[in-house]
Amino acid sequence: MEDHGWYINGEWTSPRGMELAEDRSPSDVSDVVGRYANGDASHVDEAVAAAREAQPGWFRTSPQTRANLLEAVAARILASVDGLGELLAREEGKTLAEAKGEVTRAGQLFRFFSGEALRMTGEIQQSTREGIEVAIRREPIGVVGIVTPWNFPIAIPAWKAAPALAFGNTVVWKPAALVPATAHALTRIIHEVGFPPGVFNLVTGPGADVGNAIVEHPDVDAITFTGSERTGRAIAVAATARLARVQLELGGKNPLVVLADADLDTAARVAVDGAYFQTGQRCTASSRLIVESAIHDRFVAAVTARMRELRVGHALDPHTQLGPVVDANQLAADEHYLELARSTPGVTVHGGERVARDTDGHFLSPALIVGGDNDAVFNREEIFGPVAGVIEVADYDEALQVANDTPFGLASGIVTTSLKHATDFQQRSSAGMVMVNLPTAGVDPHVPFGGRKGSSYGPREQGAYARQFFTHTKTSYVQP
Ligand code: NAD
Repeated sequence: MEDHGWYINGEWTSPRGMELAEDRSPSDVSDVVGRYANGDASHVDEAVAAAREAQPGWFRTSPQTRANLLEAVAARILASVDGLGELLAREEGKTLAEAKGEVTRAGQLFRFFSGEALRMTGEIQQSTREGIEVAIRREPIGVVGIVTPWNFPIAIPAWKAAPALAFGNTVVWKPAALVPATAHALTRIIHEVGFPPGVFNLVTGPGADVGNAIVEHPDVDAITFTGSERTGRAIAVAATARLARVQLELGGKNPLVVLADADLDTAARVAVDGAYFQTGQRCTASSRLIVESAIHDRFVAAVTARMRELRVGHALDPHTQLGPVVDANQLAADEHYLELARSTPGVTVHGGERVARDTDGHFLSPALIVGGDNDAVFNREEIFGPVAGVIEVADYDEALQVANDTPFGLASGIVTTSLKHATDFQQRSSAGMVMVNLPTAGVDPHVPFGGRKGSSYGPREQGAYARQFFTHTKTSYVQP
């Protein structure tokens, strides 16, 4: 077992004498992945100072230099999918296939933003005043603080760090305390391809110390955060109080509408994939299955049949389809909601039992809560586990109303063979991303990602839209 420090100004700090936190596998709590130093505000100060010092020089490099370095990161990630995937699965608990898919996505994101470095375009216009030219250019924001959650330990950091770096910003990153090993692996790649010192910095540790110190640091120009709504709200208050730019991607309670005209097989497959894959620990997971009465009982039967076939187990077992819950706290939270559902009159819970395996992991079978209404706490709050609720509705109009009746607005979906309803749903769903005959989870890296209401704040992430957050515009007026 190794001990690890931070990465600041192009150097790895020694963890000797530091307070260390153990990183344990959720598939087997006796498996310690490593020990990682807990930073504090003084380490954030060092990292921010290095990033501030490096930033002007980094933007002065040619965009080709930035593109080449990002492409080198992409190539290394894509050449190490097996090793990185194994580490990620071991540390976070998603299955090997899911983890390798996520690592591949991270490589694709670095590749996409390598191209974007060369497309930091501006505009030239005629002024309304004769003889004057107006130029609109894009410039980096400066030092970007990145704070990320545990559920996508490499893809989310990639979709924040790659555009930040591509557009000439420098970075101070705090990963979630549950997944420092994957963070170190990505940082090692960034170090090895030869980024200049200070351009990318990593500080691990608790959110209340390290995360908060980044958010409140007067020399951090912008904060891009993904995580829970509760933390996000606090970050927005702290960041806007000092007028720092802030972007938040938060939770979801994503509706999947199933209409009576849906193909039953498609509906069950889409629902099971959206609700349970990656152990339901996706912000875009389908957690409210809103089903027309005419198909309700057949849908519940089809979904429960598929759920029973899902193999829950150790993330590194190639036969596993559903890995463990990420840690004991999250498992307790999932079980709290399941208990609440079981004690609600008229509600039936299918599954949602602890599962014993050869190793001591946080294994929970997928759970379907049937019979609750849309106001039930378990259908209102984000659970973030392998748990979905079925809400029965009379018709499409009620389905749409229930789908939109949520404090969140990240993703939504509909399963139907009706073009009329599919079109109407795309137009009237109050979510940032809408899926037709597809799971609510599962997005592309080259198009905008984000939601509405309590799910997102600030400009979109990913694709060409990412430049809105990671660059300033400057407008110059020139009288030649
Ligand atoms: P979390 O809010 O607990 O933590 C997220 C990050 O913030 C971690 O790095 C944490 O250490 C840090 N943090 C905690 N307190 C802080 C503070 N006071 N100041 C600064 N930083 C602080 O979230 P989590 O449990 O890691 O992740 C799960 C949540 O993330 C779920 O709600 C999920 O929906 C959401 N999520 C959203 C998206 C999206 O794109 N919308 C994607 C993935 C996950």
